[in-house]
Amino acid sequence: MLIIFDLDDTLIDTSGSVTPFKMQQCLKHLIAEGLRIDDFAKAYEELLAYNASSLKSVEALSKFILKHGLDVSRAGSVFSELTSPLPLDFVVSTTPGAKEILSFLSSSYRLALVTGGHPSFQLDKLKKAGLDSSVFSKIHIPEDSIKRPYYKALAKEFLIPPEEIWVCGDRIQMDLVPAHELGFRTIHMRWGRGKMSVTESWIDHSITTLNELKGIIQ
Ligand SMILES: [Mg+2]
Repeated sequence: MLIIFDLDDTLIDTSGSVTPFKMQQCLKHLIAEGLRIDDFAKAYEELLAYNASSLKSVEALSKFILKHGLDVSRAGSVFSELTSPLPLDFVVSTTPGAKEILSFLSSSYRLALVTGGHPSFQLDKLKKAGLDSSVFSKIHIPEDSIKRPYYKALAKEFLIPPEEIWVCGDRIQMDLVPAHELGFRTIHMRWGRGKMSVTESWIDHSITTLNELKGIIQ
C-alpha cells in the first residue's frame, strides 16, 4: 500500500496561514509600486475575497491589479512575492491531526508527497509546519503542478498495483483526476479551495479531517 499526499490545504493549512500573510505582503508591494488606496484594511479584504473565488492566488492578484488599473509592467514583480521565502520565525499551521496521522500511517504503509509549486518554497513550508519529511519515501515537487507522471513513476518504482495506491488531496482536477485515470483510489480533502468544489461520483472518499483516514485505509 502506498499513500500519496498533497501538501497545500491537505497536510498544511495554506489558505488559513500562508495565503493571508502573502496577500498582505503583495498588497504592500503593490502600494510601493504605485497603487493608490484610501483604506488598507478594505483593500486587503477585497483581495482576500478575490482570492476566495479564484482557483489560484495568481489569478486573484491579476484581477485585483486589473480592477485598480495599475500598470502591469510595474505590478509584474509582485507575483514573485507569492513564492518568496517566508520570514524565519513564520509558523505554518498544519491541518488538524496532520502530524499524528502521518506518524500513524507511516508505521504500516509507504507514504509519498507530490506537491506542485516552487521547490524551495514547498520544502520551506513543510519545514515551518514542523512536519517530519522522513516519513515520506519520496517527495516530488513538479513546478507545473502536473502530477500524473510522478504518480506513475511512484507506482513503478515501488511496484505497487494501482488499486493499492491512494491519493489524498484538496484539488480534484490537479490531485485526484490523474490518480483516478491511473486506477488509483482517491480521497478528497475538503479544505481551503477544496471546500468550494462540487464532489464527483468517482471520488472514493470525501473527508474534512485527516483523522478520517484511519477508518478508510485499513
Ligand atoms: Mg493542495
